[in-house]
Amino acid sequence: VYILAIESSCDETAAAVVKNGREILSNVISSQIDLHTLYGGVVPEIASRKHIEKINQVIESALLESGLTLENMDAIGVTYGPGLVGALLVGVAEAKAMAYAADKPLVGVHHIEGHVSANFIEHPDLEPPFMCLIVSGGHTHLVIVRDYGEFEILGRTRDDAAGEAFDKVARAVGLGYPGGPKIDKAAKEGNPQAIKFPRARVDGNVYDFSFSGLKSAVLNHINHANMMGEEMNIPDLLASFQNAVVDVLVSHTVEAAKEYGFKKVAIAGGVASNSALRKGMKDACEKNGIAFYYPSPIYCTDNAAMIGTAAYYEFINGARAGLDLNAVPNLKLGER
Ligand code: ATP
Ligand code: MG
Ligand code: FE
Repeated sequence: VYILAIESSCDETAAAVVKNGREILSNVISSQIDLHTLYGGVVPEIASRKHIEKINQVIESALLESGLTLENMDAIGVTYGPGLVGALLVGVAEAKAMAYAADKPLVGVHHIEGHVSANFIEHPDLEPPFMCLIVSGGHTHLVIVRDYGEFEILGRTRDDAAGEAFDKVARAVGLGYPGGPKIDKAAKEGNPQAIKFPRARVDGNVYDFSFSGLKSAVLNHINHANMMGEEMNIPDLLASFQNAVVDVLVSHTVEAAKEYGFKKVAIAGGVASNSALRKGMKDACEKNGIAFYYPSPIYCTDNAAMIGTAAYYEFINGARAGLDLNAVPNLKLGER
C-alpha cells in the first residue's frame, strides 16, 4: 500500500510517500521558519500564502524522490486538523483536488495522531498498546495509545503547552523563534541545578501539567536581575528552566506507566527532540525496566512522513474522507 501524504497545519509545507505504513520512500519538508523568525512567531496569513506557493513543488518532489507516480498511490492522506485554518485549508484543498482528479481514496489525518505515529517509522517492533507523552508547540498530552488511532487521555496541560513555554522563555532572553532548539543548545553550557524553579503542581488530576507558573518564575527571575543590575548567567537560567520542564514530563510519564502497568513508553512532537528530555526519559525508563521509544528529530517536528504512517493505519481500518472534507482548526485528540 502506497500513501501520498500532505501536511500544512502550521509553518512547514510537507509531502511524503509512505509504503505499508512504516517505510518512508520520500519525506520533503519546506520550512517557513526563517520567514516567521522575523516576526518572532508564526504569522497565519504569511503561512497560508507560503503554503500555496510551495505545495505543488513539494508534492512533485516527494513523488519524484519516491520513484513512483500519483497513479501508483493507493490513497492520499492529509492533515485536516488541528492547526491554523488557512494553513490547513491549503493542504486539504490540494489533497481533495488530487484525489478527485486521479480518482484515489482520501484519508483525513489528525495532526497529533501523526506525531504519535512518527514512532512507528523507525521502530518496526512498536505496536499499541503503549504510553505516549505528546509534547509539541500546541499540545502537552499524556495518553495511552490503545490501538492505532485510539487514544485515552490521562493528562493534559492546563495552560501553556511545553513547546509554547520553551518559545516564550526563549523570546524573553532574546533567542528568537523557535525557542526550543535554541534553548536546548544554550542549556548544554549551563548548570541545570543553578536555579531552583518551581515544579508545577496542579489540583485534581495528578497527570495534568501546568507550565505558566514556571514561565512566570523565569520571567520574574529575569526582571529581578535586570532591576538589580545583576549579571545573569543565561545558560544556567535556561538549563534550570529546561530541567524543571523535563523533570515534570518524565516523572508524570513514568509514574503513569507504572500505575497502568505499561512496559513501553514513547514520546512525540517537536519537544520530543529535546536532548535533555530524551536523556531524562531514557534514564528513568531504564531504571524502571521500561522500553523507551522516540523518533529521530526530523520526525519529531512537523513532517508528512508521520501523516502517511497515521493515514496508512486509518486507511487499512477503512477510514475514507469525502470530497467535503474540511479543515478543523480545533480538532480534539480522539475525535474524527
Ligand atoms: P502542534 O503539533 O501542537 O500543532 P506544532 O506543530 O507547531 O504544534 P511541533 O512542530 O510539533 O509543533 O513542534 C514545534 C515546537 O517544538 C516548538 O514549540 C519548538 O520550540 C519545539 N522544539 C523543537 N525542537 C526542540 C528542542 N530541541 N527542544 C525543545 N523544544 C523544541
Ligand atoms: Mg513548525
Ligand atoms: Fe506539530
